[in-house]
Amino acid sequence: MADASSSAGRAPGEVELLAVSKTFATEDVAEAYAAGQRLFGESRQQEAAPKVAALPADIEWHFIGGLQRNKARKVLADFPCIHSVDSLRLAEHLDRIAGEEGKRPRIYLEANVAGEESKGGFAPEELLAAAETLAGLKHLEILGVMSIPPEEDSRRWFAATRELRDQLRTTSGLALPGLSMGMSGDFEEAIAEGSTIVRVGSALFGYRSYPA
Ligand SMILES: *Cc1c(COP(=O)(O)O)cnc(C)c1O
Repeated sequence: MADASSSAGRAPGEVELLAVSKTFATEDVAEAYAAGQRLFGESRQQEAAPKVAALPADIEWHFIGGLQRNKARKVLADFPCIHSVDSLRLAEHLDRIAGEEGKRPRIYLEANVAGEESKGGFAPEELLAAAETLAGLKHLEILGVMSIPPEEDSRRWFAATRELRDQLRTTSGLALPGLSMGMSGDFEEAIAEGSTIVRVGSALFGYRSYPA
């Protein structure tokens, strides 16, 4: 990460590392914690709950998986940050629950920048059309845009994510400082295109023995 940051002309520490611990054991997280890591990402609430309960309270848990609306309250209880808000309907639901719970979670809007059938997320034009409504959701702190682009030509799609964020900033009036992009296989490209937080699992913890 330090090499990728310096070759992109970015200051060290400008890009955060989210350690994606889904499918890995509580002990693996504890080991990374002992080494100083504090941000961890999980994609399923049920899998995360025992880890959250067992590990130190100064860990900051980020939710990165598909989020069913009926899990929203539980997810908000453990996760101050959600990277996978993939529809206006979900954003509005989270806003309502957050208001009821007296919370203001930080969120990223997940965009399907390459228009892939197999993936969720806002279509770019849909995201821009929702800008005003999103800006009115007072119980969410919208940080920016998240994407999981195709492996092929990933740098181009990271650039497209940044450009979409810039457009959304103009249309919404929100500051949108954040870009959640880059995983084990492509974080260097993501950092070169302005990522502010990379979500890295297998490069830190080793290969997952089963898919998440
Ligand atoms: C699993 C996952 C990651 C981490 O993937 P690695 O290839 O193991 O680094 C990042 N983001 C999301 C949304 C994931 O589900």
